[in-house]
Parts: sequence; C-alpha cells; structure tokens
Amino acid sequence: MRVAVFSSKPYDERYLGAAAKGSPHQLDFFEPSLNCDVVMLAADHEAVCVFVHDEVNGDVLRKLADGGTRLVALRAAGFNNVDLEVAKEVGIKVCRVPAYSPYAVAEHAVALILSLVRRTPRAYNRVRDGNFALDGLLGYDIKGKCVGVVGTGRIGTVFAGIMKGFGCRLLAYDPFPNEAMQELGAEYVELPQLFAESDIIALHAPLTPETHHLVNAETLSLVKPGVTIVNTSRGGLIDTEAAIEALKHGRLGYLGLDVYEEEHAVGFFEDQSASIIQDDTFARLLTFPNVLITAHQAFFTAEALQNIAETTMANLTAFEQTGTPLHEVA
Ligand code: NAD
Repeated sequence: MRVAVFSSKPYDERYLGAAAKGSPHQLDFFEPSLNCDVVMLAADHEAVCVFVHDEVNGDVLRKLADGGTRLVALRAAGFNNVDLEVAKEVGIKVCRVPAYSPYAVAEHAVALILSLVRRTPRAYNRVRDGNFALDGLLGYDIKGKCVGVVGTGRIGTVFAGIMKGFGCRLLAYDPFPNEAMQELGAEYVELPQLFAESDIIALHAPLTPETHHLVNAETLSLVKPGVTIVNTSRGGLIDTEAAIEALKHGRLGYLGLDVYEEEHAVGFFEDQSASIIQDDTFARLLTFPNVLITAHQAFFTAEALQNIAETTMANLTAFEQTGTPLHEVA
C-alpha cells in the first residue's frame, strides 16, 4: 500500500522506515503538515499517516477521497484534529495508536512537577553562572501532598501510580472510573472537590467539548492558593488567559505545560529560534519564573517511537488485508 506520511521529521523516517522494512507498504515522507494547500501530495496514496497538527478537516478529507485515499492512520492517540463525521461520509476509515507508552507521558508530567517545584532549570543556570545562592529556589516536599488526577485512562493511571510512590494522597475525576485507580487507593470525587483539595492537579483527559477550558476562571477560583497544575494532554483543556490571571495573583503557584492551545500557530515541533513570537499570550507565559513549558515532547522516548511505528504498520497491514485497521476510531 502507498502511504503518504505528513509532518515527517527525521525521527519519523527512521522509526517508521525501520518498521516498514520487509512489509508491502511503500512510505513517502513529506515534511509539511497536511492541510488544503498540500493535500495534492497524497494523490494516489491509499493511506495518509498524520500527527497531531495535521488538519484533517472536512475539506481535506473530501480532497483525500477524490485522490483515492481510503485510510487516515494517526501516529498518535488523540484524534481531535480529524472530522470523523466527514470521514465516514466520504468512506475514509480512521485509525490511531491508542497506547504506545503511557509511561513516557506520565513520567514527563512528573518531570515537569519536580523541575517546577525544585526549580531545577533556574538552579542549573545559576550554577553554570557561578551563582551558588539558594534564595528563590525554595521548594516543597511532594510526600504527603494531595494529587488530583483528571482523566484516569492509561496515562492518568500510570501517573497516579508514580505519585503514590512519592507518598501522595490521590484524588481522581473521570466519568468512567477504573479499578486500577481504586487499587492504588485513589478516591473518585467530583471536579469541584478535586480542585479545592489538591496541591497538585494533573490533566490527562482528552480534548472534547466537555473538557475544553476545564481549567478556567471559575475552577481556578476553587483551588488552594499556590496550587501546581501540569498539563500533558491537550492545550485546549486550559483557558490560558485565566491561568495567566491566576499566576499574576499567586493563586496558581506553578504551571507546567507540555501542550498549549495555540501550539500549532506558535510553531511547536519546529525551530522558531530566529523568529519573533507573535502570540502575546504565549510570550506572557514565558515571563513567569514559575511556569515551565516543553514543546509537546512528553511522548518523545525511543520506546514510544518504536511502538508508534510498529502499531502504525499493524494498522496499515490489517486494513490492507481485511479492510479494517487494527485500532479503528469509529
Ligand atoms: P485514555 O483514553 O486511555 O484515557 C483518557 C481518560 O480520560 C479516559 O479514562 C476517559 O474516560 C477520560 N475522560 C474522558 N472525558 C473526560 C472528562 N470530561 N473529564 C475527565 N476525564 C475524562 O487516553 P490516554 O492514553 O491516557 O491519553 C490521555 C490524553 O493524553 C490523550 O487524549 C492525549 O490528548 C494526551 N496525550 C498527550 C501526549 C503528549 O505527548 N503530550 C501523548 C499522548 C497522549
């Protein structure tokens, strides 16, 4: 099967290329993100392989169908960038990689918390500059703190297990509670209670109309002053303007972000170091000493890339052989 791989980076080519060796699939790698302007590159490819910033909207899907594409294979878990209704309408199946390494993302969330709370990036720069003073680096113990986990699927549950290891009390919110969380001793509560009682809040829910701006002025008015919030799920879960207000007034003590609502426009995944940041909200976030941002790298481990590549190949092969991919998004 001919597959057009969009938003391709050298590491995609390396891992997908290795996984495709010996398979009947021919992968054509394209650097640009999929959108209406470049969709013609997919002509005569039965499948396109896309990532989180590819725009798989109605217009793109109709053009893909006209060009002979029958499968959209996401090399990601989230599928909020695909118009599933139109895909169905034009006869294109959609599949994803539901789980590639929950550990990669959960561990990154923990890395953000520890780096923020112990101010590691600041300390690193100070020591390199010969400044060995400790003023301004005061942290807090994680042990004994209350951690609220919003979204207790694969990643949220692994995250909760790690935080239990630190000796934390666990609160959780999810419309579909799971047993593994209860075995960890987590208590499922409603969101207002989770916001009110947690010292650390971690977001691990998908972006849906229900979770859009789940952290907003109202929910931030409930939190303990100085709360730590980390988001490794999708940027749209946080109303950034409301978070900035809360940071300015100290209500929000620490904010760790691996994702940002406008990350695509800001140029996440690209080297923008020679450009002027046009997004004033993002630029404001960068001014806070208690905000730590990474550019959507939580998934980025060798294990995760290998699993993504292998599951993507399994999706393509199953689709070619049976007409249905292994992990269809229905
Ligand atoms: P998952 O499907 O296993 O778990 C998601 C959980 O969220 C489910 O238990 C679901 O019931 C719950 N949920 C749904 N609606 C909710 C709501 N309104 N409030 C609270 N919880 C709700 O997914 P996962 O593998 O754990 O991934 C979670 C999210 O992490 C993904 O949707 C994706 O957006 C994000 N992610 C980010 C990265 C990264 O690199 N930063 C990598 C992978 C996944």
